[in-house]
Amino acid sequence: MTEVTPAFIVHGGAWDMPDAEVPGHLAGCRRAAEIGWAILSQGGSAVDAVEAAIRSMEDDPAFDAGVGAWLNEAGEVELDAIIMDGATLESGAVAAVQHVRNPIVLARLVMERTPHALIAAKGAEKLAAQHGLPLVDESALLTGQELERWRAIKEQRDFSMKTAFGGAPRGTVGAVARDRRGHLAAGTSTGGTPNKMQGRVGDSPLIGCGCYADDLSAGASATGWGESIMKVVLCKTACDGAAAGGAAQAAAENAIAVLADRAQGLGGVILIDRQGNIGCAFNTPRMARAWIEHGQIRAGVEA
Ligand code: ASP
Repeated sequence: MTEVTPAFIVHGGAWDMPDAEVPGHLAGCRRAAEIGWAILSQGGSAVDAVEAAIRSMEDDPAFDAGVGAWLNEAGEVELDAIIMDGATLESGAVAAVQHVRNPIVLARLVMERTPHALIAAKGAEKLAAQHGLPLVDESALLTGQELERWRAIKEQRDFSMKTAFGGAPRGTVGAVARDRRGHLAAGTSTGGTPNKMQGRVGDSPLIGCGCYADDLSAGASATGWGESIMKVVLCKTACDGAAAGGAAQAAAENAIAVLADRAQGLGGVILIDRQGNIGCAFNTPRMARAWIEHGQIRAGVEA
């Protein structure tokens, strides 16, 4: 089998990120990119690289995933995550899960150890316990900063989900990889949107919306206002654009144009096509991401 050059990109959310948040987001993205790239360079699988990179960002309180996630309206952490294997089209996801520090690990368990694709809430917690994943106390996921932000939102009368993407910091995380065998994988993990209703599930854990991977087209991970991303099935739209022969960057840009035009949405998408080309587009003021170019790690938040 001929080996191909691996490719890797991660994102840490698309928001109006204030300057003070930029260094933390860039450092977390770089770290995750290094972790994933080390796996791919040693011949590891795209799925392994995606899981490990996302796990490191879930552990990093700079991001809205795992530790440091946004709180729902009841002041609880409810997490969503998905992982998808482009070689087989198998995917695993968890939604509105509590007490799990690394939902991406649980999503992979859903993919590999169950006949299902998406398990929510208590059932997901039960699966975690059955497979020996530690169930943590809410306080282990909650940071003081998030509690303060939640209190501030509660006092904001004009708060809306859409304006949150214009003004609030922190981001969902995601990764896309192509390994040496040419297989693609993608994953996404989030605490969702600030002050969401209890049980609200966004785009992130839904196949085609927050994530998609197919060796025949591309792999993609999205972030942004979930209700708008779902309307245009953003990641599948981006991958279809790449499959139709478009350049990776053009496919990402077209998908974001569809999000804006058809759903008045806000967000960003990262993509790797089957030839290993990388694309990234967003219509929020900033999007944190890191990727590998000619063996070097690159990172940025501006367009
Ligand atoms: N897309 C996520 C959601 O709506 C949030 C984000 O990406 O920032 O749950």
